[in-house]
Amino acid sequence: MRLRKMLFVTVLILCSLAVGLEMDRAASAAADSQTPVTEEVTDSQRFFDTALRSGSQPADPSPEVASLLARMTLEEKIGQMTQLEIGMISTGKGTNTRIDPAKLEKAIIKYGVGSIINVADGCFTIDQWHDIIRQIQESAQKTRLKIPVLYGIDSIHGVNYASGSTLFPQEIGMAATWNPELMKRASEITAIETRACGIPWNFSPVLDLGRQPLWPRFYETFGEDPYLAKVMGVASVRGYEGDNIAAKNHVAVSLKHFLGYSFPLTGKDRSPAWIPENYLREYFVPTFQAAIAAGAHTIMVNSGDINGVPVHTSHFLLTELLRNELGFRGMVVSDWQDIQKLVTEHRVAATEKEATRLAILAGIDMSMVPSDYSFSDIMVALVKEGAIPQSRIDEAVSRILKLKVELGLFSSPLPDATLKSKFGTAESRAVSLQAARESITLLKNVDNLLPLAKGGKVLVTGPTADSLVSLNNGWSYTWQGTSQELYPKDRLTIRGAIEEKAGKQNVRYVQGTSLDKEVNIAEADEAARGANVVIVCVGEGAYAETPGNIEDLTLGDAQLKLADAVAAAGKPVILVLVEGRPRIISRIADHARAIVMAYNPGNEGGQAIADVLFGDYNPGGKLPFTYPRKANGLLPYDHKPYELRDTSYGNMASTPQFEFGFGLSYTTFAYSDLLVQPKAASIGSAIKVSITVKNTGKRAGNESVQLYVNDLVASIAPPGKRLRRFAKVHLEPGQSKTLLFTLTSNDLSFIGAQNKPIVEPGDFDVMIGGQTQRFTLSQAP
Ligand code: BGC
Repeated sequence: MRLRKMLFVTVLILCSLAVGLEMDRAASAAADSQTPVTEEVTDSQRFFDTALRSGSQPADPSPEVASLLARMTLEEKIGQMTQLEIGMISTGKGTNTRIDPAKLEKAIIKYGVGSIINVADGCFTIDQWHDIIRQIQESAQKTRLKIPVLYGIDSIHGVNYASGSTLFPQEIGMAATWNPELMKRASEITAIETRACGIPWNFSPVLDLGRQPLWPRFYETFGEDPYLAKVMGVASVRGYEGDNIAAKNHVAVSLKHFLGYSFPLTGKDRSPAWIPENYLREYFVPTFQAAIAAGAHTIMVNSGDINGVPVHTSHFLLTELLRNELGFRGMVVSDWQDIQKLVTEHRVAATEKEATRLAILAGIDMSMVPSDYSFSDIMVALVKEGAIPQSRIDEAVSRILKLKVELGLFSSPLPDATLKSKFGTAESRAVSLQAARESITLLKNVDNLLPLAKGGKVLVTGPTADSLVSLNNGWSYTWQGTSQELYPKDRLTIRGAIEEKAGKQNVRYVQGTSLDKEVNIAEADEAARGANVVIVCVGEGAYAETPGNIEDLTLGDAQLKLADAVAAAGKPVILVLVEGRPRIISRIADHARAIVMAYNPGNEGGQAIADVLFGDYNPGGKLPFTYPRKANGLLPYDHKPYELRDTSYGNMASTPQFEFGFGLSYTTFAYSDLLVQPKAASIGSAIKVSITVKNTGKRAGNESVQLYVNDLVASIAPPGKRLRRFAKVHLEPGQSKTLLFTLTSNDLSFIGAQNKPIVEPGDFDVMIGGQTQRFTLSQAP
């Protein structure tokens, strides 16, 4: 026991989770002993708590805002609440977009429009961006009150609408790194590159939970677990916003899409969700709640409906929950055209006027109209008729003006040319490469087929092998991400990176099939016979939002056929999955000797995948979602235990292809000495957990240690386990570390029948790396 206690001696790591920072220490520790090093690591919660403390809530409206508001006409106020798309002030398409002076004058000077956003195909150079923003702001200077315009953009994995920017893995890949420090760094880089374009407002991060893998925006999420997503989400918010959103290296975020957007019943984008309030609060509220506490300045609303009520009309969600309960003090923007869609799609209002009244009274501060002037005209009438009180308008407008003040737009509305040197730098690219490497998740590796030795004959085949489009997915240069010609010419596809690494003379490439049509499968089969190993790159192309809807998660038949055909050649097959959601691969998974999940790793992904395949990087990514085995076997990891029981008819409930949190390495890790103290605790007291992790293999590697808690009996049927902590550690061969975690009663709570968090006494299992220890919780004395 005394020995145990000695193990609790803590070495506080003040720096970070960043694995690189742990390396020196690890190397020296490994050299001398088998004694575990005991560390109170910067685990997920320590990171989270520090991040929350560093965030500041949006300020109260300043006297400057109040005096401005007092001088504004009704029309000017409604102008501020209006957001239009760039097509309303420009002519031409895509990279040929040019500001149209007459249109600009109408929007900014006549209607006093307060905000402009991008459209689907507006990818510009940084100089074009400067020119666009300058013209808009110069126009605003000609208005009576000279209120600057707020430009907003979707920089969702880097500044994806600017050529030459740094693109990172999509959020789903960032979640697979289990490295919030790295997420924060990526967001810092995106913030500075967005600002470098002259844009201060970013519609990111997506905090919808990825619990419906059919949903075409699955790759925009941090996966299925509310705790992992909440930690990564807060990391992203802090990276974007920093300590001061007026600073030229930071932007205001827009958390999206509040609330419940990601859980449509059919999996189709913008289709109905049916979510009981306790489920809504258990799974979909925590990410937003945490990001609000971290200081997020704006929120975008879910286009869909929950239980038949479009969120854009829900006073309960947008005012009672968001403001009164979660304490949000920033600005709420609608999503694209969503007030009009209350009439045309949801049919909860017969006229746009009624739809506008409902949405504004529910809590929408700014309408992303975005392609006509109807909102302004209707709002003026509604206020004059008394259908919307002036006080509601003043509330919304003061939030908008306050944001503009906080962003520093009144004092410096124009792009800062000195930031150009911070855009698309080699250093930022290196961070993106590191993120891609850390995301890659090794799912299968029979007989250590991987890493491959350089020098053998390799066949590379499949539709995602030679495609930057697949590596990036949607929101890349264009909304859909499909315009190949806009991708940088100097980035390697998987094929290119393998050729560079293994020697062009050793690599044969045969496409085999497109995403959905056979091309030359017979040739791939033939080539497989002459190779030592076959790398089959399958998955998806690029898509965003509704165009990405599918009816079947199963990987397309042509791709399955290609994988079958090359496997028949008898050579070892490695499957590389490049996809934004888990496409079903059960038909081919057993034939593959190795499976590598790459998600959508961004422009450095080809390089990162080749680094993993040839052992220049030891993979450590872990799945942030459950990989289903069958198209209808969609069960998240935190299901009820009885869902996996064979309840007497022989129809075993589904077992996943790969579990949430799973991922192999080129080394092995052994867990031992799980200790939970005390064994009996009362509600409110802390539970200390320690675990020793040892690298039992021959290579240095990273392990994401995951702590789960299982509440054995609860008044709402409990899930079998819930992730409660994680920490990423770097271990040299033979090295051990003992990690310490502290659980609080919060970690043991759940949303009860009254839709409020409760903690109940009883037994709890703490589970880490295959070890389990029980403790008993009693009522506080
Ligand atoms: C999407 C949002 C996005 C907005 C502006 C909408 O269609 O749902 O996520 O921020 O467009 O581009």
